[in-house]
Amino acid sequence: MTDCIFCKIAQNSLPSEIVFENENFLAFKDIFPRAPIHYLIIPKNHIESIASDNSEEIAGELIRAAKKIAEDKKISGYKLVFNVGEAGGQIVPHLHLHFLAGGDSELKI
Ligand code: 5GP
Ligand code: ZN
Repeated sequence: MTDCIFCKIAQNSLPSEIVFENENFLAFKDIFPRAPIHYLIIPKNHIESIASDNSEEIAGELIRAAKKIAEDKKISGYKLVFNVGEAGGQIVPHLHLHFLAGGDSELKI
């Protein structure tokens, strides 16, 4: 998708602060953080949302990446959020998992 900002970030044609990368997935800092630590974990290939067909396996991989990031960065507690569809608060229509952590403070829903 040429007009998708997260595809552009995945293809390195838009800059981002990358915190994790492998062949198929990328994590970078959210430009407008809602917590002391706020990353977005995305598949490099375009898929719209959790509501898209066959998203389940990719969702599992995004969670696997989140666990790896937490281990590598020694983050003991965190929150994982999928916004699904416009009515669910999803603004960017490229599947992403929000990874939020509080630094020294607690994160309560
Ligand atoms: P959504 O509301 O779609 O679940 O979340 C999209 C997230 O992407 C928001 O938290 C927003 O701050 C972030 N975001 C939007 N545009 C950019 C961008 O160009 N770069 C980065 N790093 N984050 C972005
Ligand atoms: Zn995309």
